[in-house]
Parts: sequence; structure tokens; C-alpha cells
Amino acid sequence: MTKEDIKQTYSMREIVTRYGFYPNRAGFIPCPFHKGDREASMKIYDKDFHCFGCGAHGDIFAFIQQMDGIGFKEAFQALGGIYEKPSFSSNLAIYRANKRKEMREKQRERDKQKRLLNAKKIDIYREYLQRAKPLSEVWCDCYNALQLELYRHAELNGLESRW
Ligand SMILES: [Zn+2]
Repeated sequence: MTKEDIKQTYSMREIVTRYGFYPNRAGFIPCPFHKGDREASMKIYDKDFHCFGCGAHGDIFAFIQQMDGIGFKEAFQALGGIYEKPSFSSNLAIYRANKRKEMREKQRERDKQKRLLNAKKIDIYREYLQRAKPLSEVWCDCYNALQLELYRHAELNGLESRW
């Protein structure tokens, strides 16, 4: 049960009677949190309590916590609350999924950089080809390098080589 489920299930009155307090006709009990409360200063409302003597105030969990000297977690569990702790295996699955996502993003970034570099090289080789004397050694080197980059371009962009 969640905290809200529990609050729906138990009234404040139900909780105080568990500790042996029975609200009078006006809905008051002697305050257990300050001494000598013969007047019954603690008003029990539907979902919470308030002491007009010492100012103690809270809901069913707060009452149990203060009565038993325990923390919220223990009070919550005492009333049937269940903490949904993620299991080790689900943590591992989340970790792995995040890791895979991270790897995919890195791969995409690397591919992008490769495409940029490839495009830049193609521009450069084309420019050199235009400047070089056709069929000279430089021209041939550039031509071969360009073919290689064009081939890589197709590969990187998932296209069939058109050149
Ligand atoms: Zn009080």
C-alpha cells in the first residue's frame, strides 16, 4: 500500500484507540506527548491530531512515530506500507539500457564527424583536380584519393556508389 492508501484506510481515531485512547464526545483525548494532561487537550480529527496544550500536531504516521519512537519508514511499514525498491536486476537492466543509448549516441556523433571530414576531403580533392595539370602525377593522386573518398561517402551515407 502507498501512503495515500493507508491514509484512506485508517482514521486517526482508529489509530489512537490502538494505543488505548478513546476520544470523548467532543473528540478529545489526554495528550500523550505532554505530561499531566487531565483536561484532554488533544483533538482527534478524521485524518490528524492537534494538541491545544503543547501544540503537538500530525497525521496517523506522526502519531505512531512519536508514540513508538520510530521513524516514518517504520510507521509506514507497521501500517502495511510497502516500499517499492527496484530490484538489482531491474537496476542492471536500466544501467545497460542507458549504456547502450550512450554508445549509440557516441557512434552517431563519430559517424557525423566522419561524414564532415569526408565531405571536406571531397571538396579539397575536387579543387586540386581542377588546378592540377590533367593526368600529371598530382592529378592522378588526387583523382585516386577522390575516388576513395567518394566511395567512402556512399558508404557513410548508406548510398550506392554513383561514381
Ligand atoms: Zn500535548
